[in-house]
Amino acid sequence: MKKGIFLVLFLLIACRLPAQLPALERIEPMFWFTGMKHRQLQLLVRGNSIGQADVSLNYPGVKLIKVNRVENPHYLFVDLEIDATARPGKFELRFTRSGKKIAGYSYELKARNSAAGRIQGVTEKDLIYLLMPDRFANGDPRNDVRRELAENTMNRDSMYARHGGDIQGVIDHLDYLKDLGVTAVWMTPEIENNMPKASYHGYAATEHYRIDPRYGSNELYKKYAEICHEKGLKVIKDIVHNHIGTGHWLFTDLPMKDWLNQWPSYQQTSYREQPLLDIHASKSDQKQMLNGWFVPSMPDLNQTNPFVQNYLTQNHIWWIEYAGIDGLRLDTYPYNDPKFMADWAQRLQAEFPDLSIFGETLVTAAANQAFFTGGNTVGRGLDTHLPGITDAVLKDAIYEALNGKAGWTDGINRLYATLAQDFLYKNPNQNVIFMDNHDMSRYYSMVNEDFDKFKSGMSLLLTMRGIPQLYYGTEILMKNFSNPDGLVRSDFPGGWKGDKTNKFTAAGRTAQENEAFNHIRNLARFRQKSEALQSGKLMQYVPQDGIYVYFRYTGQAAGTVMVIVNSNDSGKELDTARFGERMQGLTYGKDIQTGKEQPVAKIPVPAKTTLVLELR
Ligand code: CA
Repeated sequence: MKKGIFLVLFLLIACRLPAQLPALERIEPMFWFTGMKHRQLQLLVRGNSIGQADVSLNYPGVKLIKVNRVENPHYLFVDLEIDATARPGKFELRFTRSGKKIAGYSYELKARNSAAGRIQGVTEKDLIYLLMPDRFANGDPRNDVRRELAENTMNRDSMYARHGGDIQGVIDHLDYLKDLGVTAVWMTPEIENNMPKASYHGYAATEHYRIDPRYGSNELYKKYAEICHEKGLKVIKDIVHNHIGTGHWLFTDLPMKDWLNQWPSYQQTSYREQPLLDIHASKSDQKQMLNGWFVPSMPDLNQTNPFVQNYLTQNHIWWIEYAGIDGLRLDTYPYNDPKFMADWAQRLQAEFPDLSIFGETLVTAAANQAFFTGGNTVGRGLDTHLPGITDAVLKDAIYEALNGKAGWTDGINRLYATLAQDFLYKNPNQNVIFMDNHDMSRYYSMVNEDFDKFKSGMSLLLTMRGIPQLYYGTEILMKNFSNPDGLVRSDFPGGWKGDKTNKFTAAGRTAQENEAFNHIRNLARFRQKSEALQSGKLMQYVPQDGIYVYFRYTGQAAGTVMVIVNSNDSGKELDTARFGERMQGLTYGKDIQTGKEQPVAKIPVPAKTTLVLELR
């Protein structure tokens, strides 16, 4: 009797196990490339009891090094070595049991695309435009709803629902971005997020090798990168090392328990970076920060597990080589295992020397921020090899300059003092500088919709050291506070057929929106021509009377850019006698907004204004 019940129970459970799993469900990466610097490749193989199979192959230049059998019998990890003599082509991976073939897979090695300039990097010469593909423009209404996915509805009236924007919508508006002066496009993650709710944000991956079908396809993404390059635009991919979504196929059937950082009961990260750099920190606080989960729907990957390391690293290399990507933005950078991230960066840089990498570090002190950058002077005993970070500290300082009153350490003096800490970085010019993003209150709201301040801050951002980044809609004065964050992720007006207004065109924008757009465009276009802004040094002067002056300059005096920030509520006349060291007898300056030339011995500066002058 007991045995009978056991049998029934066993059958019930067995039916719930992945009985439908075919003998071979998938191999990732599904193909690879010849000519890679790193010769090793680790294939993740998933299939019904595939863990008991033997593996063989026969292809010149490809060696089977090791077959790794892990806790879960439905997985195998197959280590290959692909030497320099391997030619592009296909070979069969044979899976056998007791000599009998149970599955086969035609594995392809594609030729590496070594076209010059395919991967260009993102530098100070660029202006980055960050957008959320679900919220920017709907270029293909046929993909809005996909029945097979967990969230299979769309509703533009809900800030949490899918709105239908996609990669085709971005392609359709690349000329708009180019006209604005943008040179690099950063989309929030495009890979599949098959989550039941709020899947639009893209940070809960459920397939690492597939573009979300609501955004398009892998082929369309590759085409998008090619079109960007044809138009002189660069492509930044947003990637997440730290976590996946609970809808990820790996989460439903883990290869091994320690694929994730698992706790006896749910533990959230502390969101505090301090334990990572604090010389007084406890180990338990460090563990909470690194191994706690970001939110319950985003399981925390264990980046000390070598199989996880290979899985992530190969995935990123695959996308760069497949599509041709210029830069990577690393989500939630401080939450990842530091040693792995350092090794990862070196491997990526070895494979793609021109690739740019910057990490999201939303911290509040320059030293904490610099701590995460490669070659910094803080000295942590570990070189992160991370060239760039998102410079949240400079953002806060610009806000203080715009909104605060000048005091010894307040207002405009805070901005000066923040830049005076640049000695912490190996190269602060690689910091990505910004006023807002998809997780923050919008810039125009943060200056209380004060249009003078808006323009002043944009002039600062686009002439400052670092790589400037705009958030979509800033140029048309989109506003709102980030509580909840859906409010700062609304649709770009005109991106959907039938929208009441189309702010992609000058005719669809109000006079003030056009003024904002043109203000940014003038600065962006000037930046594209100005050697001083593209690669010059920065010299700043101690602020006086609420006025702050800095210069961008090269070896040549002509073309020096003088930036004057008047943070006062009243107009002032600036006597420039004390700037002779940098002005070097240059007597005229051209205002890059009005095009007017003026003598620069004494310069009138209106209230709450940043003047940008090119000196001659
Ligand atoms: Ca669509």
